[in-house]
Amino acid sequence: MADSIQSFKAADLVIQLSSAPKAKPNVVDFGTVFTDHMLTIEWSAAEGWQAPLIGTFGNLSLHPACSSLHYGIQLFEGLKVYRGDDGQLRLFRPMLNMNRMANSARRACLPAFDQSELLECIRRLVEVDQDWVPHSDSASLYIRPTFISTEPSLGVKKPARALLYVILCQAGSYFNTELGALSLWADPKYTRAWKGGTGDCKMGGNYGCSLFAQYEAMDYGCQQVLWLYGEDHQITEAGTMNIFLHWINEDGEEELATPPLDGIILPGVTRQSILELTRKWVEFKVTERYLTMGQFCLALEQQRIKEMFGSGTACMICPIGNIVYQGESLHIPCQDDQPLLTSRIAKELTDIQYGRSPSNWTFLV
Ligand SMILES: *Cc1c(COP(=O)(O)O)cnc(C)c1O
Repeated sequence: MADSIQSFKAADLVIQLSSAPKAKPNVVDFGTVFTDHMLTIEWSAAEGWQAPLIGTFGNLSLHPACSSLHYGIQLFEGLKVYRGDDGQLRLFRPMLNMNRMANSARRACLPAFDQSELLECIRRLVEVDQDWVPHSDSASLYIRPTFISTEPSLGVKKPARALLYVILCQAGSYFNTELGALSLWADPKYTRAWKGGTGDCKMGGNYGCSLFAQYEAMDYGCQQVLWLYGEDHQITEAGTMNIFLHWINEDGEEELATPPLDGIILPGVTRQSILELTRKWVEFKVTERYLTMGQFCLALEQQRIKEMFGSGTACMICPIGNIVYQGESLHIPCQDDQPLLTSRIAKELTDIQYGRSPSNWTFLV
């Protein structure tokens, strides 16, 4: 990190412990019950970053003109802390989240910060609320770093005030094979992201404007939207997950493919990890390439599709069994039994996250 960047420092952290810690519930609906503490760090153009504060979890007080509310000048991150069988708490490649957050901040005209200082503040927050990390090898504590403009005026301009905060909540396991494979609704009439836009940043606006399509997908009996792009109906992402296709490609080669990071794809930590992991196996071709619905339909007809899955921190890896496209329901037959590659990747990644396989991808709390 360049010295020229003004940042808060973890060494200045102020900790004010809650006087009324809550009872810890069993893992409840995701994102509804938060821990006792939160991290807040204020910034202003006039005074720069203030000392980071870990204090009691509670409501924010915002000016009604605040530009995060009016113009969506805000962004977020999502990562998890896992409790291993050895009791040790681990984060999974958290610097990738910190760096992605810094990129999103740059694109949102929010101030820069030192990513490793933020990670150390988050580590301290998790330490304070460590009893909230579930004792389970299928659940975890979800960390939601958030960065909002608190500019108290209506001009559309670079904010002169901002607030970076981090909240924590328990998360159950989304990888549940009993739930079966996902069904996706693919209609090119909606677009999640476009060239030159912000699809590669975790900004709230990308998600708020996807809801309408999500509910239309549900009207068609599907669980998520398969986001297509362009005249040739490129496959881009599934809901809020990156997407992978395991198939025999046009040249007859076994291939695991995912769309390239060309600006409309969110650079997922899970995506990157799956690419690195499977490239190390050297068992089949692993590619970042364009995939179109035309190629997919032809391959399905010729029985060249092996597996398809989505990836992301929330669900880790989620098999896809069905795609509704142009009035047809396309079934991916190999997903009916145990999807072999999906299960193998899920096992290798969870073994790392829960400390069963040693890896330099884990960061100890
Ligand atoms: C967060 C997110 C992902 C997954 O990223 P991870 O870092 O693997 O959690 C994929 N697509 C979208 C649109 C996302 O917001």
